[in-house]
Amino acid sequence: MKLSSKSNEYSVPEYSLTGDLLSFLTCNLQYRYQNKGSLQPSRPLQLWFGEFIHGVMEEAYTEWTLKKTQFPWDWLKDIRPIEEKIDQRMQARGLYPPSPKYFTPYKEIIGNEPIEIPPKRIISTRIENSINLWGKHLFPLMDSAEVLIKGLRTMPLEDKINRRSDFYCVNGVIDVISSLKINSPVSKDNLIVEYLKKEEFYKKNRLNFEREYEIIIDYKGMKRPSQDFKPLENRSPWNYHEWQILTYSWLRYRQTNSREIIAGIIFYLNEILPSNEDLRVIKTDIEKGRSDVEISKKDRDLIDDWDGTEENFPNLSDSFKLDRSIRIIEISKEKVKKALKEFDNVVNDIEKSTLNESKGKSIKKSWKADGDDRTCDACDFKNFCNKHSNNPFKFLTIP
Ligand code: SF4
Repeated sequence: MKLSSKSNEYSVPEYSLTGDLLSFLTCNLQYRYQNKGSLQPSRPLQLWFGEFIHGVMEEAYTEWTLKKTQFPWDWLKDIRPIEEKIDQRMQARGLYPPSPKYFTPYKEIIGNEPIEIPPKRIISTRIENSINLWGKHLFPLMDSAEVLIKGLRTMPLEDKINRRSDFYCVNGVIDVISSLKINSPVSKDNLIVEYLKKEEFYKKNRLNFEREYEIIIDYKGMKRPSQDFKPLENRSPWNYHEWQILTYSWLRYRQTNSREIIAGIIFYLNEILPSNEDLRVIKTDIEKGRSDVEISKKDRDLIDDWDGTEENFPNLSDSFKLDRSIRIIEISKEKVKKALKEFDNVVNDIEKSTLNESKGKSIKKSWKADGDDRTCDACDFKNFCNKHSNNPFKFLTIP
């Protein structure tokens, strides 16, 4: 009897939309070291803030569904316990806050008694404002949170002989799926629905007011990116975020329980309470015409007159913050097709670099060092990567 031999191992490469594709676009070489080389950043600040804000928003929604606590929520009573819970969960996974004392209460003498006061950092005020400004409109529309989506696509790499697989798997986690029925009482006086109604595509689509539609929602713990006026194919953070939402919609649409998806919404939560650094970049965006959001004369004057210091941080209006923190993205077949093609190109680039390395090319020759200044500034590899090899001391801070 002839025994059959074991077939060669066959695995389909899996790509996460944010963890791989967007990360590769931030800098190819940094992605290689961190994701493929498992070299965790020594200062994973961005990672911590991102996970923390997502965790708290998700838990806040769960609390709201259970207790229906009225808005506005009180930070100490309603939000602080959620923050502690998320911090503990993250620490159990090895993700620690920026400093060990980040959440440690300090003592203050009130009357004659020493009372423990929990510190309220900028991220806590940002979360409090996000819940009280957006949560009260968002939570009643929400259907589900943290929805895992996956799909299979043809491997774009042309080198059919050497490519690892004929397909690749793309996956992601949608922060929120909201259902929208325009005529329902929940949609009445809802600020998110009001923002949607202002959009051109919303006005021209003949939506059935009795039908339920879906909206895909993503939170980002960052400022709104500079607007890119170039076509969707152009590589810029502004377009990457749109590709992400459009790809989510393609993946979601394939799930059996999905309904027609009419829009994607990104909430840029730093806009609710910008840091000094955020506001400096926002100011430059406005001055250089790279902001897509209309600004009132009063807010414009406040920003123009601001000298960039924390002491004189301007008191901007809530409408300015709300307008800048919400970005609505139209979902259409053509745009989805374009976004998928762009992510196919990114997978092609990653696979090419992987192949080059497996053929013996060095890491630095296989992966491009192409981070922007802000990314490089926080990067652990800047002192030996190609981009800064001519000036290895560029980022050394001299006191
Ligand atoms: S220093 Fe900049 S270019 Fe070099 S690896 Fe880091 S992010 Fe990329």
